[in-house]
Amino acid sequence: MRYCARCVYPENTKPTIIFDEDGVCSGCRYHESRKQVEVDWTERESLFSEIVEEAKKHASDRGLSHDCIIPVSGGKDSHYQVG
Ligand SMILES: [Zn+2]
Repeated sequence: MRYCARCVYPENTKPTIIFDEDGVCSGCRYHESRKQVEVDWTERESLFSEIVEEAKKHASDRGLSHDCIIPVSGGKDSHYQVG
């Protein structure tokens, strides 16, 4: 049995896992690649605030008092969580 040299993830846990020549798994390599993505958190906060205000307005327009957003993917597990 092989294990990732970095995170010790075993090769039989996920069928699509790939180990490179250094013995590092594809999950670790993907995580490394994401570190190079710059995120503008100030812009993200502004966009989030716009979404919140829009949701509050929709609720208010309908006479509802909802004041929260539950982000979900839309699959059956997500629907179960918010139901
Ligand atoms: Zn790993």
